[in-house]
Amino acid sequence: MEVATTASVWNDCLEIIRREVDEQNFATWFQPIVPLRTDGNVLTIQVPSQFFYEWLEENYVPVLKKAIQAVLGEQGRLEYSVVVDSGNKSNPPVMVNYPNGLAGRRNATADQQEEYSPFGFKSNSTQVINPRLNPNYTFETFIEGDCNRLARSAGMAVAKKPGITSFNPLMLYGGVGVGKTHLVQAVGNEIKKNFPDKVVLYIDQNDFTNQFLNALQNNKLQDFQNFYLKVDLLILDDVQFLAGREKTQEFFFNIFNNLHQSGKQIIMTSDCPPRDMKGFQERLLSRFKWGLTADLQEPDFETKLAIIHNKMQSDGIDIPTEVAEYLAYSVDTNLRDMEGVLNSLIFHATLLKKNIDLELAKDVLKNIVKEIQNDVSVDFIQKTVSDYFKVELDAIKGKVKKREIVIPRQVAMYFCKRYTQLTLSMIGENFGGRDHSTVIHALESVEDMMKADANFKSTVDELGKKLKTRIAS
Ligand code: ADP
Ligand code: MG
Repeated sequence: MEVATTASVWNDCLEIIRREVDEQNFATWFQPIVPLRTDGNVLTIQVPSQFFYEWLEENYVPVLKKAIQAVLGEQGRLEYSVVVDSGNKSNPPVMVNYPNGLAGRRNATADQQEEYSPFGFKSNSTQVINPRLNPNYTFETFIEGDCNRLARSAGMAVAKKPGITSFNPLMLYGGVGVGKTHLVQAVGNEIKKNFPDKVVLYIDQNDFTNQFLNALQNNKLQDFQNFYLKVDLLILDDVQFLAGREKTQEFFFNIFNNLHQSGKQIIMTSDCPPRDMKGFQERLLSRFKWGLTADLQEPDFETKLAIIHNKMQSDGIDIPTEVAEYLAYSVDTNLRDMEGVLNSLIFHATLLKKNIDLELAKDVLKNIVKEIQNDVSVDFIQKTVSDYFKVELDAIKGKVKKREIVIPRQVAMYFCKRYTQLTLSMIGENFGGRDHSTVIHALESVEDMMKADANFKSTVDELGKKLKTRIAS
């Protein structure tokens, strides 16, 4: 029903608009619009970009107003939903809403007296700010590991005493999917839990920039700033995207100074440390360094394993250890990919009632793991490696602990991990019945040696090529 009415409301509007604008403009500016919903006398339309929205507001307010009021009555209003990022396979589209577009305004002077509230709504004339936190991103669900220990404890300290510790601002940085957003939201949730009266606001730079532009356009910069000054904890995610945006930076600088001076807490995240940030005013960068800067690293094997178990457990799903191990090693891009793999497994297990086993895990992974793992036998790897290093094949498979054997053995394990689909424990089986932790240790020491010793690295690379050409032929 709802869809039909919305569509017909918009169709009626289009009829009126068509009479007012020429064909070309009608096709360019009105046909791409998708009517989303009608709510009483408010019609929400989706437009394909920020630019599109601005163009409509600049050029077609009288036309839109006329159409809306003719169809929805004198009180009729228009709201926009702007597609800022149309998304892709792994990321859903991002939308920003513009309630009260000019075209939707009944009375400009009355509107000007309204309080500015990008994320607020009013209850009994006091403004309530929606903190925009994801309730699942808490400290309880955030697994601690060497990779994030400092950042996590700094976050904890801030959550206990927001604005009071010297960690102000708290600046967390790290690559994609290392848990920055999760952690800063956990701080926000924790503060909301411990201090319900504190005003918390999580915002990513994208929203911030859009609000800023919107306020600029509507002469509401002062309101924009006042709104932010009500906040006790401001979390600005992915601040690196403010690079090169002079005006937005300037405004953020003012807000930052005001909040900081009045003992309000600021938390930011970025993909690199402040010293490497390009396109920022120096005075802003120097402020970023005032408090504490802490990094989050790629999670190590153990942490990944714990994250996997934790996530599956919270969904009430048992995941066999060998599957968890397989995933922790194979998904080496980032945790967001891991999340995708786990969700897919959960989907198979719950909706399709499949058992989570290695086979299913490999199937799901096929779309994600980059290096296609050609099947090659352990025997072949062991033989090639022992020939190359000129050591006895039996020694590699056996228990000898001499260095000249141990290193080739570790290298052979390393290639088994890379070129076969065996689990860690199965690899261990093939090397004198060693357990999975010995295999992990072997993989780590090969990687460490490759980092530390260029000669060793080229040896391994060369061996890798040998194995690969043999695999391909
Ligand atoms: P970032 O913001 O650094 O790109 P996210 O915070 O979005 O990364 O993390 C990506 C995914 O990995 C999220 O689903 C998050 O819950 C999960 N994740 C990251 N780190 C951890 C952790 N230490 N414990 C549990 N889940 C984590
Ligand atoms: Mg993030």
